[in-house]
Amino acid sequence: MAFSDDTRQELARVIPSARCCRVAELSAFYELSGFLLGKHNQFLDFNTPSPFVARKILLLLKGLYPDLPTQVLMVRSRSRRSQVCTVRVLGRVPAGQVYQELKDQSVTGETGVPRRKCCRRAYLRGAFLSGGSITNPERTYHLEISTEQSRIAHKILETIISLGLEAGMTQRKGSLVVYMKDGGQIANLLSLMGAHSALLQFENVRVMKEMRNQVNRLVNCETANVDKTVKAALVQLEDIDLIDSVIGLEELPPKLREVARLRREYPYASLQEIGELMTPKMSKSGVNYRFRQIREKARQLDKLDPKY
Ligand SMILES: [Zn+2]
Repeated sequence: MAFSDDTRQELARVIPSARCCRVAELSAFYELSGFLLGKHNQFLDFNTPSPFVARKILLLLKGLYPDLPTQVLMVRSRSRRSQVCTVRVLGRVPAGQVYQELKDQSVTGETGVPRRKCCRRAYLRGAFLSGGSITNPERTYHLEISTEQSRIAHKILETIISLGLEAGMTQRKGSLVVYMKDGGQIANLLSLMGAHSALLQFENVRVMKEMRNQVNRLVNCETANVDKTVKAALVQLEDIDLIDSVIGLEELPPKLREVARLRREYPYASLQEIGELMTPKMSKSGVNYRFRQIREKARQLDKLDPKY
């Protein structure tokens, strides 16, 4: 199953214990996908495509108002590809009572951000279950919650920010999309919303990806170094061959002769390795200096001898 569905199913099973949080989460469901309907406002509907989320909404409602008259409706589209579950509160008075309490909750503070931290987490959980999705972390890090209502989009954004996280907002096909792109930040939000299994899975992938990146970086770096060493060694070997054929290596000063001999013996050794083979040992820069002198000598001979 898709990672997003797993996460939503897990969050649909989380029922907050505090009354304040239950109201906060329900208010998110109402704001993103709820309607007060009927000629006399006698229906309060919560719509969701997911039976798991519908069950949760019903549990939250029944927990808050034990004797509330409710009804659950399910409508499938003609193609049977999609469905809408509606949890409906029946009756003008009960619908009005729930509506009023959710509305009172939704006007806390200037931006509407729930006052308590516990309720902010519950509110975001409800918002995510209504209009949210998360991409499989194997592909990319992306979590979003979309709504057509600008006020609600801003409220979601402010609520995320109020919890110390970062999010952005963009427009897509008439909807406002609040999104997060940073793996660490998404992990934090999953934890705050209570999606602990999803968090574990998300973090496992993140650790694996991070390790893969590190290994790739090391391999690339190592390959580049090896390439450099081999190319430099090839040039040094050409210089040494040239000197040998024109004047003979015996003509070189002893220190140069030694590095030339070691290079021929160990064509793939790095400068540092050659330095360690010398007696006494020599630093990498010392070896490099001697190869530069060999290079210089070869250039002079090259100019003198038209053959090369
Ligand atoms: Zn609370």
